[in-house]
Amino acid sequence: MLARTQELKDQGIDVISLSVGEPDFNTPDNIKTAAQVAIDENYSHYSPVAGYADLRKAICHKLFFENGLRYEPQQIVCTNGGKQAVAETLLTMVNEGDEVLIPAPYWVSYPEMVKLAEGKPVIVPTDMEHNFKLTPEQLKEAITSRTVALILCSPSNPTGAVYSKEELEALAEVLKRYPRVMVLSDEIYEHINYIGQHASIAQCDGMKEQTVVLNGVSKGYAMTGWRLGWLAAPEWIAKGVSKLQGQFSSGPCSVTQRAALEAYVGPQDSVQAMQKQFEKRRNLIYELVQKIPGLKANEPEGAFYLWCECSHYFGKGGITTADELAMYLLQEAHVACVAGTGFGAPKYLRFSYANSERNIEEGMNRVKAALAKLKKQ
Ligand code: PLP
Repeated sequence: MLARTQELKDQGIDVISLSVGEPDFNTPDNIKTAAQVAIDENYSHYSPVAGYADLRKAICHKLFFENGLRYEPQQIVCTNGGKQAVAETLLTMVNEGDEVLIPAPYWVSYPEMVKLAEGKPVIVPTDMEHNFKLTPEQLKEAITSRTVALILCSPSNPTGAVYSKEELEALAEVLKRYPRVMVLSDEIYEHINYIGQHASIAQCDGMKEQTVVLNGVSKGYAMTGWRLGWLAAPEWIAKGVSKLQGQFSSGPCSVTQRAALEAYVGPQDSVQAMQKQFEKRRNLIYELVQKIPGLKANEPEGAFYLWCECSHYFGKGGITTADELAMYLLQEAHVACVAGTGFGAPKYLRFSYANSERNIEEGMNRVKAALAKLKKQ
């Protein structure tokens, strides 16, 4: 898909990309200035493996004031992006043959990372009716004597679903009976939430010791290229991750860490402004998709993805899979989206609305016209 998108662009074709997994906004100015100052102040040396002490402290403050969670700096490890935080946590705690529960649809990297850690990904399918959220009954049924972890992602990539505190409490009730099962709570989209206060399963009574909070500055602060993630965990996991990171990559980029410090301690108005923009776009794309016959979607509650069931179009115009449908939309409508196959959901398409309202409107109108042509075939 990517290669074909590039080919079309190289031919001068106006391709609208509704496939990207990052904010289209630039990093806020106060954060960029902090990085410029850091360069001038010669932050050019190795940092501690787990990150600068003041950054880890600032993350503890953030966790306390935003999430009501009390952590000590030695429980925080800063990593090269959120991705490394997920991977290193799994490598630290998963042994050969251990089972890790992954509700589907899932972020593409989870099963692959579990396999890298020699674990066994156990996929638990969720459905549109439950807004793609794992239910306590499904969780109970999926846990075996080999289960060591559950990966939860809220707000979710790819579905846009957000777990409420009550839904997390219900899952926690099950998990508390299995204290060896850790929850890897991926909260990287925390700040892009349209339904109110972000909830973390670590806030549920007794769950903090059973949870690794995974987060970072990539999405909420529009800093994907800077590469700064972090985890907040029981000390034994934070220690293990630091040990591993000390051999893999050492501490994250020194200048990036100074920028991330400003992200957390500086003014938060740009985060709110970006969230407002995303919400307007969410409203727009959801309104537009409802006018496209044969595509079914729930209203996204967070992140910046619209998740559509598209199997109505299978069997039309020679198309039999979501991958073929995505390719058809690229060729016919010049709109790039992502097939759900890699997310463990082969009947779905993911449209990213990290794009301007104009492009979202034009893109979805083109999708509608291209699908209408298919219907007639
Ligand atoms: N977790 C989820 C659900 C994501 O979608 C992503 C990025 O797309 C990440 C983690 C990793 O983020 P980062 O860019 O900070 O590595």
